[in-house]
Amino acid sequence: RQELYRELRAQPSVTKDGVGIELLMNAGLAVDLPQLNESGAAGIGLFRTELQFMVAATFPRAEAQEKLYRDVLDAARGKAVTFRTIDIGGDKVLPYFKGAGQEENPALGWRAIRLTLDRPGLLRTQIRALLKAAGGRELKLMLPMVTELGEIAQAREIIDREVRHLSRFAHHLPTSLKLGAMVEVPSLLWQLDELMKAVDFVSVGSNDLFQFIMAVDRGNTLLADRFDPLSVPFMRVLKQIADAGVRNNTTVTLCGELAGRPISAMALLGLGYRSISMSPASIGPVKAMLTELPLGELKALLDDNLSGTSTKVPMRALLQAFADDR
Ligand code: PEP
Ligand code: MG
Repeated sequence: RQELYRELRAQPSVTKDGVGIELLMNAGLAVDLPQLNESGAAGIGLFRTELQFMVAATFPRAEAQEKLYRDVLDAARGKAVTFRTIDIGGDKVLPYFKGAGQEENPALGWRAIRLTLDRPGLLRTQIRALLKAAGGRELKLMLPMVTELGEIAQAREIIDREVRHLSRFAHHLPTSLKLGAMVEVPSLLWQLDELMKAVDFVSVGSNDLFQFIMAVDRGNTLLADRFDPLSVPFMRVLKQIADAGVRNNTTVTLCGELAGRPISAMALLGLGYRSISMSPASIGPVKAMLTELPLGELKALLDDNLSGTSTKVPMRALLQAFADDR
């Protein structure tokens, strides 16, 4: 298998019927960087910047942040990198930061963009470090846990202010700056067109989105096998987002765990996703799947089964049978 994955690395990432698919990797620390070449990923679709904060004993200084971001961009050698602004709070606690203290519902609590907009010093320092590290190159920034569009406008103000500040001091600025949002809170599903007009790209955080759509704690092992992301309701949600991307001509990536398992990655391609980001070890297996995939046939099967009012065969079984047959 490893041999096969190594051989596949040099081959183009296209389905059996010729549709190009972008396979990206998730990362978060400097130790992940060699995987970019080893996995053959086309870039980093999700760089979880909070990991540097989680492994540190105190808030990483601006210089340390800038160094990490510069190292990431150097290692990427021109491949695109999407940096997500710190996603702390909820289950990602920093021992040296009190945060909200004991919350009754941490997943629904003071976390991610909510926290950084309330503590703008944190966000400002990080944005400045990113802008400096990306001087002369492209910078892609992504906001986690966006619930309403006002949060994007607020973050953009902070970014614009830092850009003005750096240009006043004659710093080398990024050649382009793209701003994106994670789609992981259900409220965005009813403002997808507005959202896509407000940002340059979106990325579906299917781990959190599934948790919120199904009202199921993503860390609760008692519930781990009860509900299936490859079920009609959740697949309809995912399709709705992919369709909105096409309608608005906005790039849509998906960077949750679903992207990394061949059977669910296959389902995502059938729903219209053309860019998915996963752990580096998954790239080989997913690429092996897609080069054998007649995508047109799968799309027809899904369209058929997602549009009806009732589906007799569970979606996962249907997808598994399709994969086994081919
Ligand atoms: C997600 O929620 O799917 C995601 C990619 O982000 P995280 O797992 O870091 O919350
Ligand atoms: Mg998330």
